[in-house]
Amino acid sequence: MTTPGLEDARTAYEKLRAEGMKLDLTRGKPSAEQLDLATPMLSLLGAADFRAADGTDTRNYGGLHGLPELRALFAPFLQVPVEQLVASGNSSLEVMHDTLVHAMLSPLPGAERRWADEERVVFLAPVPGYDRHFSVCERLGIEMVTVPMTADGPDMAVVEELVATDPTIKGIWCVPKYSNPTGAVYSDETVRRLASMPTAAPDFRIIWDNAYTVHHLTDDEVEIADLLALATEAGNANRPFVIGSTSKITLAGAGVAFLGASAENIDWWLRLTSKRTIGPDKTNHLRHVRFLRDADGLREHMRKHREIIAPKFAAVDEVLTREFAGTPGVEWSKPVGGYFVTLTVPEGTATEIVRLAKEAGLALTPAGATHPYGEDPQDSTIRLAPTFPVLAEVRKAMEGVAVCVRLALAERG
Ligand code: PLP
Repeated sequence: MTTPGLEDARTAYEKLRAEGMKLDLTRGKPSAEQLDLATPMLSLLGAADFRAADGTDTRNYGGLHGLPELRALFAPFLQVPVEQLVASGNSSLEVMHDTLVHAMLSPLPGAERRWADEERVVFLAPVPGYDRHFSVCERLGIEMVTVPMTADGPDMAVVEELVATDPTIKGIWCVPKYSNPTGAVYSDETVRRLASMPTAAPDFRIIWDNAYTVHHLTDDEVEIADLLALATEAGNANRPFVIGSTSKITLAGAGVAFLGASAENIDWWLRLTSKRTIGPDKTNHLRHVRFLRDADGLREHMRKHREIIAPKFAAVDEVLTREFAGTPGVEWSKPVGGYFVTLTVPEGTATEIVRLAKEAGLALTPAGATHPYGEDPQDSTIRLAPTFPVLAEVRKAMEGVAVCVRLALAERG
């Protein structure tokens, strides 16, 4: 005996499969249309334009700290005093990776020893979170302990209790604005508690990956509390490493990454980084300054991104609302910025939904990717990335997702 719901769901799925579509909602990257916005940057500078404001020849070696005028442009958006902000290479993931490698090999300010000499190094991983953060930990043998995400950021009662008593907990990953993948924005209270909470480890660090600081999807340009200032006020100036990049502002493969922190942390980082490079690509820094110009230029540029991607997020919400409003156990985030939507499905169905989608020619991020070691104990989180495909494809892909969710729910009875 099959229920009518199941039969209908199977028929709809077989029809979907017969269409032989080939769509992909896995890629949290800008679309070609977005990249086109910054393509004029590639013809900037020209042969005669290579001097920084202070006369430095950007073509030559040196300037490890990065171009001052680019740092000045981004300092307010990353909430870091300009002298404590470094402009680096093209990838913030690289900066985060290197920072933890440096901490492994050389004691951080305030550390009793380098992390490689600790018996155990643990990071808190708010979940759902960003898989590449987790991969850095896995690569370096840093264990991860999960903490639930709420709409206001990580569950701070859990975080405070863990860090207060366990000196092996050396850090936490945070994407504080338009979080990957839930879109959550950390509340002022969460930021204040992170800045001031007592930690058993003297060298505890917050990796404050503010990757989406200017990536608004609405008119409301959300601002979060200033972690570095609050931590400094609370006597924990060395706690934050603030991270950012222009990967999803200009060109994802040819942007600029930033690192902000206390003067002591920055001195430590520059000293160690000077062993791996003589300096960053300052011509790319200068190109970014010429292209974005100033704070208003940056805001204006981000509004153009928004015009392209906000309709895609609206399409995701529209299809999910039409198909699942009121369906028990099916929920989704409605981000007001960033790059992702989190679809939450009833426990134990995420893997099956992703499998069904794949068989129908629709690639979804593997279930579990939002959790350390690829294991979502509830098997209920699916990350949707709607920026890369064109709008019509996003809508079609979401209609396909809905068919797969329906079948998985009906099969489960
Ligand atoms: N941090 C977060 C939270 C991201 O979502 C991403 C890309 O998806 C990155 C960092 C990667 O940044 P970058 O291109 O600067 O290495």
